[in-house]
Amino acid sequence: MTEQKLSDTSAAPSVRTMRASAPFDLHGSAGPVAPGPGAVAALRPLNPDQARLDTGGLLGRWQRRNAEDTLPHCVDNLHHAGNIGNLRAAAGESDEAFAGMWFADSDVHKTLEAAAWELGTSSGDEALRSFVEDTVALLARAQQADGYLNSYFTVVAPDERWRKPDWSHELYCAGHLFQAAVAAARTGVSPALVAVARRFADLLVERFGPGGVEEVCGHPEIETALAELYRLTGHRPYLDLARRFLDLRGRGLLGHGRFGPAYYQDHVPVREAREVTGHAVRQLYLLAGMVDVGVETGDHVLLDAAERLWEDAVHRRSYVTGAHGSRHREEAYGDPYELPPDRAYAETCAAIASVHANWRLLLATGRARYADEMERALYNAVAAAVSSDGRHFFYSNPLQLRTGHASSGEEAASRRLPWYSCACCPPNIARLMASLHGYLATAHDDGLQIHLYASGSVNAEVAGAAVRVDVRTEYPWQGRIELTVTSETAATWTLALRVPAWCDAYTVRIDGGPVMAPARDGYIRLTRAWAPGTTVVLDLEMPVRQVSAHPRVDAVRGCVALARGPLVYCLEQADLPPGTVLEDVRLDPAVPAVPAVPAVAAAPITSGHREDLPDIPVVINAGGLVAHAGDSLYATGIRRERPGTSFTLTAVPYFLWGNRSEGPMRVWIPVAATE
Ligand SMILES: [Zn+2]
Repeated sequence: MTEQKLSDTSAAPSVRTMRASAPFDLHGSAGPVAPGPGAVAALRPLNPDQARLDTGGLLGRWQRRNAEDTLPHCVDNLHHAGNIGNLRAAAGESDEAFAGMWFADSDVHKTLEAAAWELGTSSGDEALRSFVEDTVALLARAQQADGYLNSYFTVVAPDERWRKPDWSHELYCAGHLFQAAVAAARTGVSPALVAVARRFADLLVERFGPGGVEEVCGHPEIETALAELYRLTGHRPYLDLARRFLDLRGRGLLGHGRFGPAYYQDHVPVREAREVTGHAVRQLYLLAGMVDVGVETGDHVLLDAAERLWEDAVHRRSYVTGAHGSRHREEAYGDPYELPPDRAYAETCAAIASVHANWRLLLATGRARYADEMERALYNAVAAAVSSDGRHFFYSNPLQLRTGHASSGEEAASRRLPWYSCACCPPNIARLMASLHGYLATAHDDGLQIHLYASGSVNAEVAGAAVRVDVRTEYPWQGRIELTVTSETAATWTLALRVPAWCDAYTVRIDGGPVMAPARDGYIRLTRAWAPGTTVVLDLEMPVRQVSAHPRVDAVRGCVALARGPLVYCLEQADLPPGTVLEDVRLDPAVPAVPAVPAVAAAPITSGHREDLPDIPVVINAGGLVAHAGDSLYATGIRRERPGTSFTLTAVPYFLWGNRSEGPMRVWIPVAATE
């Protein structure tokens, strides 16, 4: 069986000009990514106060854990690791030695952004509020008279300021500062940070704008941040500078560097790029910036290029978990189909960047394939990066950990670590999760679209009516989604519900009665004058799927991955019979598994809950066997394996791996050869 196609290739809905949710209103509420009034985009994001996750659901609990554990943990580590001390030194208030990476400020900015999203929606945590107030004030004091703000180049290397655009990350750090300021303003948490950001942004316009220095940053990020700052302020020079940075890319301005210009996507003009290359996080941040500038300027060539890059990334160079980047060296994309599971780099930040890029592409085009990919990355590659306690993290997210794996500290770590010397990932997780409710649904003039299913509620004004949809679901563990629609008036509008690409069959009931609701372009569209209290039940069938990779992915030929709903599963050593070596285990479809729950009829592969694994709502059971192939590493002729003991395999969700004990794991399972 092969995985369903990743993309829906049918015609996309026409892109048309949309209404802005918060047209250049400093005090208006908006979430991450708020296209301006002139943007060409198919969908309109909701404001943060229009969507809410219930803490009873998986995503809601994850968001609460983010607020209670991950975010305070990030704040603590910014102090312990010296990031805050660096800024104090830059403000002339300390003579402590600089600590950490030269781009350490970016971790402060990302944590500030996370805190803003969190404080914008929760009743408020005084410690977090103090962190924001103190840090915003510190940033203002650390800012130079001309607007420049970067602790490393203020304290350690003032003579190097703006001298090394290929590696300095000055514009990268500025970008994260701007995004923090945008979040703090949109949530009303700290409008003061906007003044700091604008002073710096004005300096950038003066230095790098039209007639100024022709340079780009080795680490893209400033492009999307300037577009968002423009959306917040309406100050056109910020958008023009973002576009100029895109236009100047691909002209070799960064030089050859250590890894060549493709490493930082400076080898070809962005509108001509056909393949994703180099550092995966940089590539995906750049892609996000291309979409932001494309929708604000109506630049369809730029948007087409972004979609083309997405197709190359998703169809040829991404993992079944939604992770990107297969090479540890250069933290980079590999060749097409070069996707080794055990040597996957799969940086957490790249998966987060994929969520960001896919959300922008979804808003721009309305195409379901972007929501599908966002979901895949969120539930697998991103979710796996955080421990169950919310305080330990993977930087690299391999799809296989071998028996005897030699971990060399932070490089290819075999367990989640509390912090990293390059701590880009934990605060990136924090900012995504704190704003996650902003990614559930969108609106358009004629209706509401739900893209991610989670217990909670969304509100919007559509077709002149205030509408509300309450969602109850055990998704992703179960495929039943119950929606209650409340409409202020009996206006006619369309509720669009995504049918994920992995779903082959579903039913829809309205007020208990079955309705025919064919999915078109990945969405069911229900158009009616909604009476208050109308219930819609969408039941997505969620059988266990055996997913196989394209045969060109040599590294997993002969293997399948088990998946159910949006979740990819894996085998862990903890679930094997004592003495079994995970690498010797084969999936044997010929052996019926013991049903996980008595009510489920015996079948080759089953799913259900197991009382002895209370923290894992649904496991997958399948027939397995231990294969023997002798001890010699090489042998003449085709190697034959001798089937050994049969047993029932237990697979657990990939995102939960490594929480019970440290040990081998694999997503791709070799299938036993059958006669
Ligand atoms: Zn990272």
